[in-house]
Amino acid sequence: MASSTKYIFITGGVTSSLGKGIIAASLGKLLQARGFSVTIQKFDPYLNIDPGTLNPYEHGECYVTDDGAETDLDLGHYERFLNVTTSQDNNITTGRIYNNVITKERKGEYLGKTVQVIPHITDEIKCNFYKLGEDGKFDVVITEIGGCVGDIESLPFIEAVRQARWDLGPHNFLVIHLTLIPFLKAAKELKTKPTQHSVKQLLEAGIQPDILVCRTEYHLPMDVKKKLALFCNVQLNSVIEAMDAETIYDVPLLMKKEKLDERVMSKLKLSSKQNTDLENWKDFLGKLKNPTQEVNIGLIGKYVSLPDSYKSIIEAFTHAGAAIECQVNLKLISSEEINADNYESKLEDLDGILVAPGFGERGFEGKIETVRYARENKIPFFGICLGMQVAVIEFARNVLHLKDANSTEMEPHTPHPVIALMEEQKNIDQMGGTMRLGSYSCELKRASKAYSAYGKSKIQERHRHRYEFNNQYINEMESAGMVATGKNPETNLVEIVEIKNHPWFVGVQFHPEYKSTVLNPQPLFKKFIEAAIDNKKVK
Ligand code: GLN
Repeated sequence: MASSTKYIFITGGVTSSLGKGIIAASLGKLLQARGFSVTIQKFDPYLNIDPGTLNPYEHGECYVTDDGAETDLDLGHYERFLNVTTSQDNNITTGRIYNNVITKERKGEYLGKTVQVIPHITDEIKCNFYKLGEDGKFDVVITEIGGCVGDIESLPFIEAVRQARWDLGPHNFLVIHLTLIPFLKAAKELKTKPTQHSVKQLLEAGIQPDILVCRTEYHLPMDVKKKLALFCNVQLNSVIEAMDAETIYDVPLLMKKEKLDERVMSKLKLSSKQNTDLENWKDFLGKLKNPTQEVNIGLIGKYVSLPDSYKSIIEAFTHAGAAIECQVNLKLISSEEINADNYESKLEDLDGILVAPGFGERGFEGKIETVRYARENKIPFFGICLGMQVAVIEFARNVLHLKDANSTEMEPHTPHPVIALMEEQKNIDQMGGTMRLGSYSCELKRASKAYSAYGKSKIQERHRHRYEFNNQYINEMESAGMVATGKNPETNLVEIVEIKNHPWFVGVQFHPEYKSTVLNPQPLFKKFIEAAIDNKKVK
């Protein structure tokens, strides 16, 4: 393959959840700081075509890209760290690979041949490995292989990585293996055996890792590093320590201290005179760690038992909070536990209230109570997607006195469908990839909280929903004080609602959290936190 693009593969061993995505994003950041253009892609071993149909409880948030792909939440980390957008091509699942191969088989593209895992599935995987590097836009493509080495389901990916070494040739291909060095309390020792085993498994599959990144709670003494190098067949200076960090945003700097970027560059024969100091990044970290004030914000949703379900929202608060030097104490509260009798005790400590995105009826009435409390008590309120829809329904019920107003998602026969299925959704019978997805433009009214946040009237934000504000109710709503301050200029779909007679009450049909990055905190989050600070002062 004639290409100057360098390919780095990151595999994981010993256990899952070691933070491959963060290591990938951190390495990407460091290479970016050296002047290279970098993209990161994730290959997931499960059979769903994409994570769009997965329950957030199982897999955390579904991250949506500009081009409307429903992807793994690690893509969120890539965008937040690198400040560049990703796309459908950055997240591939086994399901998609098989789907592509089977579609080709039906078209007759393999006519006469027995279609097999090797070479057909592995060829399809490799074709997708190389896709982003093909047009020469990127100097480096980092590929994170989901799951753990040794899992049955990731075998074809590992085999494809083995083959890729020969396609790409020396100095264009590198494998980093992320592993865990556990500390045994009783023996007071860091143990290397699980890593030795996991590297053996890689070797059995024909892959020699070039660099080991070792997650650890304690510094790795030299003798442990030497043992790892010796038994795992890697150079001593390629045993990289990855200590547990206070925040994920420390990891790029920790990896720089450990010279991960230098090791990668030397092995890939990448040279660069540039070595920026990540000043902006350090500035962000300084503010994040030294806040001058704090606020309590409640995130009310139904997936709170797994905070990863709200990953991008949580990170957007981190970025926006740091930008204004405010520590955001985010309290995740289950909407199922809020009712007409207890809402006050559940919500009274909060300086600001966010009602989260979501699907389905469970916990819905708790969200209505929450919005009513925020509206009546003039608590800064931010509704995202379903959160915005709830705000509209609450207003219809309690201000317009349209009893039983609802979304047709919750009650298909409601007498007042203030939120209803979008026209283009009416004939859709498949669940996967069929929502209104990806980036759409929105035109803001000048006199609005949204305009004062963004500072411009044309914005682009990402979407993931089927239902919408029902424009039949717009006049009634607006004359009672809930105003549509943002609309899609082509379709007239309401994208933002605000309540005039309230310090800060904003509901958005889109997901502003997806576009928040370390270097570009999301403006609505900043303004919402500022409103919460003001509210705290008044209290
Ligand atoms: N369930 C709502 C819809 O489909 C909201 C979706 C969301 O919050 N992402 O319109």
